[in-house]
Order: sequence, then structure tokens, then C-alpha cells
Amino acid sequence: MFECVNPQENVCFGCRACENVCPISAIMMQQDDIGFLYPHVDQQKCVRCGLCAKTCPMLNSQKYDTETQEIYAVAIKDKELLSKSTSGGAFSLFANDVIAQGGVVFGVTLDENMFVKHIGVETQEDLAVLRGSKYVQSDTGDVYTQILYHLQSGRKVLFSGMPCQVDGLNRFLDAKKQSAEILLTIDILCHGVPSPKIWKDYVSCIEEVYHGKLKSFKFRSKMAGWENSIEYAEFENGKKVYNTHAIRTYLTMFHKNLSLRPSCYACDYHTYQRCSDITIGDFWGIDKSMPEINDNKGLSLMIVNTKKGKEAFDRVSSGAVVHSSNAKNCEQRALICNAKTKGDVDAFRKDYAEHGYAYIAQKYATRSNGSLMKIKMITVLYKLKLLPTFKKILGK
Ligand SMILES: Cc1cc2nc3c(=O)[nH]c(=O)nc-3n(C[C@H](O)[C@H](O)[C@H](O)COP(=O)(O)OP(=O)(O)OC[C@H]3O[C@@H](n4cnc5c(N)ncnc54)[C@H](O)[C@@H]3O)c2cc1C
Repeated sequence: MFECVNPQENVCFGCRACENVCPISAIMMQQDDIGFLYPHVDQQKCVRCGLCAKTCPMLNSQKYDTETQEIYAVAIKDKELLSKSTSGGAFSLFANDVIAQGGVVFGVTLDENMFVKHIGVETQEDLAVLRGSKYVQSDTGDVYTQILYHLQSGRKVLFSGMPCQVDGLNRFLDAKKQSAEILLTIDILCHGVPSPKIWKDYVSCIEEVYHGKLKSFKFRSKMAGWENSIEYAEFENGKKVYNTHAIRTYLTMFHKNLSLRPSCYACDYHTYQRCSDITIGDFWGIDKSMPEINDNKGLSLMIVNTKKGKEAFDRVSSGAVVHSSNAKNCEQRALICNAKTKGDVDAFRKDYAEHGYAYIAQKYATRSNGSLMKIKMITVLYKLKLLPTFKKILGK
């Protein structure tokens, strides 16, 4: 008799590896009060094989030994792709190549119902929906099972996701005794993922405020440059909004680390020992080590962790401007320690459960008129190409 996974808070990343691995489909994912998914085992069906618990990345915390570690600042040369990417477009470099080789790329999309989920795409055109960060915990659904199928049929696969999702996939494939030779994994540097339910409520809230259905949403548009990236919403009624209090509430609470999954506050992946072939993120702090290469159009931090990752990077590096760096110069919280909250998370959750989105937005995400004006001004200066001069005058 083996133990099964259990749905307690703090002991589950919500990666769904357990559900995918269960040989008799006895595990169902259910949302908790704040919208995160947890596994529930049907005890009538369960045969106590223990596979779910053995596969769980939370219950089997393990340090990965990175085979190699090379660190770069990277910006894709294709200007259009760079402008559509959140950071320096590192993801697109690898994704384009895997598609060109006839492979399948798995990543995160925001569907027409504004639901954030992992999907697999097979064409260059479809890669567009995976571009851009969606600051919501993505639903991995049955993608691990889909990936297993592709690998079994000899098709190259690129999987990109949060470190816990990559680790979940690694363990799922191990449990299925599937070689990962033709799988390339990219983990997205992550300090925490916010609740899908809070996101859904936010969408309803802004749809009410702007009297229209949300058509598209950019969590980080570069309209005021990469370093000042801001959320941008377009509605079916033609309204285009970016610098209002209502639009800014969701990410304000995310930046205060109030709306994150409980496991994000106690997560083992904030380390240089990575579970993927390649790690990508924003190269924050570039101005301290190489200010001359920062044109505010976007720069990726890229960490090559394995020989397979190195081979993949060698294939695509000519498509990017690449600068060597090191652990000291790229250091940021997500690589060294857990998310720290700016506020009382318990009170935040209680308020949300009792009073709903509008209440928490008012209480925890208030912005002064001054800060909204500042965004407007930065956007105008950026468009007029006057932002660098202005920053110099202010000594920033
Ligand atoms: C919730 C979250 C927290 C993050 N925290 C940090 C951080 O603390 N420090 C840092 O340097 N970078 C962080 N990032 C990463 C950063 O925002 C960019 O996603 C990353 O640099 C990739 O940018 P790009 O220009 O290469 O490609 P883009 O085209 O902009 O990125 C697309 C890639 O991100 C993936 N992606 C998008 N949304 C999600 C999601 N919800 N879950 C999993 N994968 C997703 C896509 O599948 C694709 O692989 C975070 C991203 C997310 C989604």
C-alpha cells in the first residue's frame, strides 16, 4: 500500500503530473477558494500504486546537478519578434528552430475566453499565441500526456513552462520510462504565479467598467519601452486602455506578491541549480554590468544548463545579439530566494473570499493620480524617443 498525493495547501504546485500519471484516472483537479488547482483522489477507484506521490515534484524535492552553466544576455535580431516578446525574445529563438525541424512547441496562451493554459503548436504562425508573458498560473491540462505521445512517435518537442511544471514533466516522463533525448525544456524564471480566479474576476471587472468584452490583453506591452512595460487592454467595442486605475489593479497586486499560489512562498526552484536545459527571464540589472547594450527594447537573461541546451543554443545563436555574462551580474530574487510579500496575504485572501474582486482592488491596489500621470508621461517621452535624454537629466 502506497500513499497518494493529497490536496493540502503548500504541498502542491498544481502541475498536474500526478493526474496525468495515474494509470486509472482516479485523480481530479479541483479549484480551491482562491482559484488554484489541487488534486483529489477518488478513494473508491484508487489502487494505491503510489505512482502519483512518486511523481510529485513537491513531495520528492531534488536538487538538479547542472552539467554546464553558461550565462548570456540575449536579444533576438528580428525587430518585430523582439517588440512582441516580453524580454529579449529568447523563447522565439528556440521555438522557431524546433518548428523548422518539424517539432511541436508547448507553451502558454491566453484563449478567446481569457483563460490561461498550456497548448502545443506546430506552425510558425501559431507560435504568435505563445509569445508574451501571461501573469497567471497556467493550466497544464493533459499536455504531459500529449508530449509523451509525440516523443513516442519520434517527434521533437520543446516544452516551456514554470520550473515546477518542467520538473513535473521530467518526473512524469521518468515514471513512464520515456527517454527525453528529443525533448528540449525551457524554464521561465519565476518568482510566483497568481491565481486564475482573481484573473478571471479582474477580466469581468474591467469588462464592466469599459462596457465591452475584452478582446486582447498584453500584460507587458513595450509601448513605453521594456523597462517600463505596462498592461494594455483592447475591448470589442473599440476601447484601448492602458493607464487607468481599473486596468492596473491586477498587476499591482501581483507585484506586491499578494495573489500568488501558496507553494510559491516556499519553493525550491529559486536557485542556480535548474531543472531544465535552458532558463530564460528578464535581464534586470543589465545597467549595472553592461549599460551600453541596453536600448530598452528588451533583453533576455539566458542560462544554458545542459549539453543539450548548449547544442540547441549553438544552432540558433546567430539569430540573436549575444553577450556573455555571469552569475553575479544577472542575480535577481527569482534565482536566489522565495517571493516576499508586500502586505498581509492572509488578510488579502480573507477579504477576497468575503468581499470579492472590486473590494480587494480598492483596498490593495490603489494608485495615486500622480503614478498614472507618470506612466502617461513616460509613454509619450518613449514614443518621441526622448526618454533616455530625460532620464539623463534626472540622473537615472
Ligand atoms: C508568472 C511569471 C513570473 C515571472 N517572473 C519573472 C521574474 O521574477 N524574473 C524574470 O527575470 N522573469 C520572470 N518571468 C519571465 C519573463 O516575464 C518572460 O516570460 C521571459 O523572460 C520570456 O520572455 P521572452 O522575451 O523570451 O519570450 P516571450 O515570447 O515574451 O515569452 C513567452 C514564453 O513565456 C511562456 N509563458 C507565458 N506565460 C506563462 C505562464 N503563465 N506560465 C508559464 N509560462 C508562461 C510562454 O509559454 C513562452 O514560453 C516571469 C514570467 C511569468 C509568466
